[in-house]
Amino acid sequence: MPAKILVVEDNLQSMKVVTMTLKYHGYNLVQASDGEQALEMAVKEKPDLIIMDIRLPKMDGMEVTQKLREIPAFKRTPILVLTAYAMKGDKEKFLAAGCDGYIPKPVNTRQLPGLVADMLAKGRNKTT
Ligand code: MN
Repeated sequence: MPAKILVVEDNLQSMKVVTMTLKYHGYNLVQASDGEQALEMAVKEKPDLIIMDIRLPKMDGMEVTQKLREIPAFKRTPILVLTAYAMKGDKEKFLAAGCDGYIPKPVNTRQLPGLVADMLAKGRNKTT
């Protein structure tokens, strides 16, 4: 069974680029376009990895991540942040919120499959 990836993104173009790229590499994709839907889809679909936009309607990606980390089933699910807004110190904030890595926007479609494969193989940092 291919790994299932939940992509949370409210920008249609960015959603399309990410999902098409990962589908092409054989992954099973599910989508959410706002923070509340992200929580619902995560609980319903039990993805192996989550790609999370930060600026989202209803609930931002950091809050969604924090809420997911409170649910035992999601303690070990890798979450990669997807955002154009990584300023100095943002990476630390994302990690503190429970994210495991960072994908800059616009997405580099040649790098994305490798990042996802590495994260799936490695899993979450065991100390967190
Ligand atoms: Mn957004």
